[in-house]
Amino acid sequence: GKTIGELTEQIKWDEAGLVPAIVQDAKSKEVLMLAYMNRESLALSAESGTTWFWSRSRSELWNKGATSGHTQRIVAMHYDCDGDTLLVRVDQTGPACHTGAYSCFTGEVAGIKGAEEGASSFQQSGDRFAMLNQLEATIAERYAERPEGAYTTYLFEKGVDKILKKVGEETAEVIIAAKNQDNDELRCETSDLLFHLMVLLRERGLSLDEVMRELGHRHNQKKASS
Ligand code: AMP
Ligand code: ZN
Ligand code: ZN
Ligand code: ZN
Repeated sequence: GKTIGELTEQIKWDEAGLVPAIVQDAKSKEVLMLAYMNRESLALSAESGTTWFWSRSRSELWNKGATSGHTQRIVAMHYDCDGDTLLVRVDQTGPACHTGAYSCFTGEVAGIKGAEEGASSFQQSGDRFAMLNQLEATIAERYAERPEGAYTTYLFEKGVDKILKKVGEETAEVIIAAKNQDNDELRCETSDLLFHLMVLLRERGLSLDEVMRELGHRHNQKKASS
């Protein structure tokens, strides 16, 4: 990849010396926010490994999370085809939006032909496991926002021991369902188990991507040795 020095040359800085930076959750892939970088904030981001922006309203450099603690550790950075936009993939601590929302993009626009109102902001891909992505994003949202009354909030507030207890219980229920040869029950209990496993992954900061990579790795090893 390009070094920051090379990138600074390549970027099409606007008249104010800024470039928009889209910030994406590296785990859930949801778009979290958009902010602007200037040359200095780009260099600071590279040096520190956390996001620095230029605040247009306050005319000052801004290290995301410096006051709120909701920091963004940079996992990867890309520039687009014509060099006028940056994409920053981050490991987000807490909510990205200053309102306390997981993502800044919660205001839905109505009346768009063919668009589904109330549909998740997450882009559903055609693949069969889109629901797991969706679930990971929703769990990340609950983790960041802790909405009152939500079961996922309750689990995070209770802590890792409670989550582990649930994983154990749901595992036992999967076994019982299978023993009973009851596939309706097995379907429900498997769903319960997957949900609680994903809550555990979020709690521990391990992404589904990393699990999928591990599975892929094993699969390829098997192919190579057979
Ligand atoms: P923080 O960087 O989270 O400590 O927040 C410091 C200040 O930055 C806030 O008071 C807001 O003015 C601004 N800010 C933080 N997050 C965002 C965001 N996602 N979009 C716009 N402004 C933000
Ligand atoms: Zn572009
Ligand atoms: Zn916001
Ligand atoms: Zn269950």
